[in-house]
Amino acid sequence: MAIESEKLSGAESLRKTRTFGKIRCHNPSCMERIQPAPGAKHVKCPTCGMEYRLFWVNANLPRIRGPVWDVNRKIAEEKMAGIETAAPKKGAKKGGK
Ligand SMILES: [Zn+2]
Repeated sequence: MAIESEKLSGAESLRKTRTFGKIRCHNPSCMERIQPAPGAKHVKCPTCGMEYRLFWVNANLPRIRGPVWDVNRKIAEEKMAGIETAAPKKGAKKGGK
């Protein structure tokens, strides 16, 4: 039984092999590891500038709850300005999850 309770949380066991308290940037072209200040509500990736809302599983285990749209939209717009795709995009949905 004790073994099962140890298995219970994969996150807890991950903590032993990884540096805990860190999250990975959700930007696929970045994937930087970020260490937010304990209890922080937001974190900004120092590498790509994306900002994320945080959710704390426990005092030491932050998870990304979602991007901060205002900031990330700006970044996306800058990128799109460079790409200028032909794809029509109107009424873009946000916050899918
Ligand atoms: Zn990043």
